[in-house]
Amino acid sequence: MQTKFPAIGTTIFTEMSALAVKHNALNLAQGFPNFPCNEQLIELTYLFMKKGFNQYAPMAGALPLRESIAAKTEKCYGYKPDINDEITITCGATEAVFSTINAVVSAGDEVIILEPAFDIYKPAIELCGGVAVPVALQGDFFEPDFELIAKAISSKTKMLIINSPHNPTGAVWTNEQMLTLEKLLAPTNILLLSDEVYEHIVFDGKRHYSALEFEGLRKRSFVISSLGKTYHVTGWRVGYVIAPAYLTTELKKLHQYVTFSAHTASQLAFAEIMKDENQYLGLSDFFQEKRNHFLAKIEDSKFKAIPSQGTYFQLLSYQSLSDLNDKAYAIELVEKHGLATIPLSPFYQNSESKLIRICFAKDEQTLNAAADILCKI
Ligand code: GLN
Repeated sequence: MQTKFPAIGTTIFTEMSALAVKHNALNLAQGFPNFPCNEQLIELTYLFMKKGFNQYAPMAGALPLRESIAAKTEKCYGYKPDINDEITITCGATEAVFSTINAVVSAGDEVIILEPAFDIYKPAIELCGGVAVPVALQGDFFEPDFELIAKAISSKTKMLIINSPHNPTGAVWTNEQMLTLEKLLAPTNILLLSDEVYEHIVFDGKRHYSALEFEGLRKRSFVISSLGKTYHVTGWRVGYVIAPAYLTTELKKLHQYVTFSAHTASQLAFAEIMKDENQYLGLSDFFQEKRNHFLAKIEDSKFKAIPSQGTYFQLLSYQSLSDLNDKAYAIELVEKHGLATIPLSPFYQNSESKLIRICFAKDEQTLNAAADILCKI
């Protein structure tokens, strides 16, 4: 059979994880923690399963979780979404992104993405006949250039996708940048997909600004969050989308047929855990310590790093070490040195990056072992 998707292969995360297994390498590639989650979360999930919550959750998500999300969102961002009309629980942020894009983008519509852009955006846009219009983030800190974004806007622009804290670069948008975006979009009907899955991981005293805090953005936005990222359980596949009622209605049309609902008992457990703000307010300090520990360990290596501002990713430049392109270099790192990382080029349409991404959501032993490898190169 002829493939329906000739341009789509296997994601770089699957590819590098497979190589890590094959070469018995340390895996700092795909972004997931290698330390345990809060034991209480597991106990609560088990309890809800024992109590018989083993059938479908409501399509929009379990009511107690929607209530907890509304309360948490109000506490964090000063806006309380409506539990019936503005919240949709999805199977991870991946389904959230996929269903959102497919719910509103039609054939021929243009969607502006800021590159490097997380790898799911472009295929999701193209699968519904849309056109991804890339605009490069600028400089060492991967900042948005609003003149370039303005130039990329056309009569066909349906949506803009932003992502802060940013995967894969760790860049974090400022209040001024959010305000500039609000002003830029004000005279348009362009929708915004704001991927905020690393919302609670921001370093050096910075803070995350959610699109929900800016009225001009909120009224046109799908804001996507991830419980897997916030609670160290990426495998549980629970995320959510907050969007105004007119957009949530469209999203639910897709979500009901893509997955219908996410795992019920986990949703009920998250609803309880979310009431304790310490579970997420301590995350920035927790991961900042890991970032600092890792950066201190590789200080004398030949890899150069500008400290990540948020997320649990750190970019490393191997410019002084090799002329190989980043994919080839990442493969060499696994095969010869036993360390799996993620090259940056899969996040671009065209790139000549000499950068690789490591995930520092790892225990100290793993971070030390990885730093030892890098220091020897
Ligand atoms: N978000 C994860 C990362 O950036 C990957 C998720 C996935 O494998 N699709 O590593």
